[in-house]
Amino acid sequence: MRVKVYQDILEANDNLAEMNRKKFKGHGILVVNLIGSPGCGKTMLLEKTLAALRERGKVRPAVVEGDLETSRDAERIARSGVPVVQINTQGGCHLDASMLAAVLPDLPLAEINLLFIENVGNLVCPASFDVGESYKVVVLSVTEGDDKPAKYPVVFHHSEVALVTKMDLIEHTDFSLEAALRDMRSVNPKLKCLPLSARTGQGMDAWVELLEEQVQGVSKG
Ligand code: MG
Ligand code: ZN
Repeated sequence: MRVKVYQDILEANDNLAEMNRKKFKGHGILVVNLIGSPGCGKTMLLEKTLAALRERGKVRPAVVEGDLETSRDAERIARSGVPVVQINTQGGCHLDASMLAAVLPDLPLAEINLLFIENVGNLVCPASFDVGESYKVVVLSVTEGDDKPAKYPVVFHHSEVALVTKMDLIEHTDFSLEAALRDMRSVNPKLKCLPLSARTGQGMDAWVELLEEQVQGVSKG
């Protein structure tokens, strides 16, 4: 019976996610669901991405922050000057479509064309819960080890883009970029992999240009 209950939950979530997706489509908004372990650098990546996007001036972003507790990440993002909404899951280990639907009235949907969702730090269940995003971006830092794609294949399978972060630290680790890329591609041959460092800016241009390109594609509809 447990299996049945879980399937029902996922089905109800998928239906709500479709409603969110329709709403985003109506407003011409690209929605990026960022998924990665705690400490993989999602928030800093967002801060630097928002700064770069602002400088280039082509995209109007907003952010939804998902966390178990606290609004610390949302406060960091708010300093970038973009609209940000915090969701606290009260211990829940992933965001779901109903949580996102509940905060949409707090976002200026008519004024933005890119919405980042920083999911709860977790490589497991955020992969199974569609929230209505355009696509998932999985974030893996070199300090976590290159065996993550083989050990957590589901999230890599469901993502369009994989960002390998903290590349500035790679020489201090045993992380093999080659091994990680090989395992990612064996799980998902279509996965677009971008190594970068938010701290030094290495590889950030390719990521920001990809976002701009995708936003343009969505707004043309
Ligand atoms: Mg964070
Ligand atoms: Zn969960």
